Amino acid sequence: MSKTRVFSGTRATGRLHLGNYFGAVKGYIDLQNDPKYDCIYMAVDVHTITTPYDHRTLAQATKEIIMDYLAAGLDPEKAVVTIQSLVPEHVELAFLFASIVSVAKMQHLPTFKDKVKQHPDNVTMALLNYPTLMAADILAYKTELVPAGLDQEPHIEVTREIARRMNDLYGTDFPETKRFATPAQYVPSLTGEGKMSKSVEGSSINLTDDLATIKKRLASCPTDSGKGSTIPEKGGVANLLTFVEIFQGSERKKSYEADYFGNGLRYGDLKAELAEAIFDHLAPIREKRLELEKNPDYVNKVIKEGAEKARAIASATLAETKRKMGFYVQN
Ligand code: ADP
Repeated sequence: MSKTRVFSGTRATGRLHLGNYFGAVKGYIDLQNDPKYDCIYMAVDVHTITTPYDHRTLAQATKEIIMDYLAAGLDPEKAVVTIQSLVPEHVELAFLFASIVSVAKMQHLPTFKDKVKQHPDNVTMALLNYPTLMAADILAYKTELVPAGLDQEPHIEVTREIARRMNDLYGTDFPETKRFATPAQYVPSLTGEGKMSKSVEGSSINLTDDLATIKKRLASCPTDSGKGSTIPEKGGVANLLTFVEIFQGSERKKSYEADYFGNGLRYGDLKAELAEAIFDHLAPIREKRLELEKNPDYVNKVIKEGAEKARAIASATLAETKRKMGFYVQN
């Protein structure tokens, strides 16, 4: 029986944070460990340049994502782990897909509108094309399953639409890709608003943050008086309780809720205990990461070998697509 193809990626805009880990990377690991799946995971550096970025640090930031991936448990013996720009077929396929995608459709995506709000002076063609490039990342491998956070659902829908249209117009055989959801598919921001994201200052805790940093980040999470008859469903308090549930379990969350309805919830204590729980949870990742930092040759080898394996597949899909679209293709 042939294996189900899995693809996913993370932009190289900063270190991996708890949102990336629980929303995506935990899913990557579950799937790589299951022999039914054939997995490809990338640091998607071409996506990074769709919003303002620093060309002096891009290469390093990209490598940091790969090292965080490996530290978190991605295993190059079981999955392809590499960098998107080393597989230029993605960009070429994205251009071909752009020929069947309307500008209006891309402009209406909520993710596009959010980015326009965040960076009004940087509304570029590359930004508009983000979902087309993501469709190319996914379909270059005829991917059926994408482990990703809830925020990616509109992009995966675009991928399905592109696949359908390509198949109708040109007789390609792109699959209808589905999202693989992890139990914590939406990790909220520490600012109390929106999702945890690398690109929102003060919103995240990184996988390798030290205890002092974790405490500092939690300290800035907004709270209330700690008492009342209903717990807010949104905002800082709701988010802190979500973190308690993830790191300390639902029983601990329930006991804090009882305090809230009773004598009052002491956020100072909650935050201190939660910081320790997060720090302990991440200990194995920190240790592995230190080992990897001492071994850059190994990391480079993983990236190089991963790119070779990925290119073999992506170049075959590209050639087939070009042929079906009517291009002159040499055998
Ligand atoms: P960021 O928004 O921090 O730049 P990316 O866009 O690179 O993150 O996303 C990488 C992966 O992590 C995607 O699968 C995305 O859905 C997931 N992810 C990012 N933030 C969160 C979050 N707060 N909760 C759940 N999943 C998330």
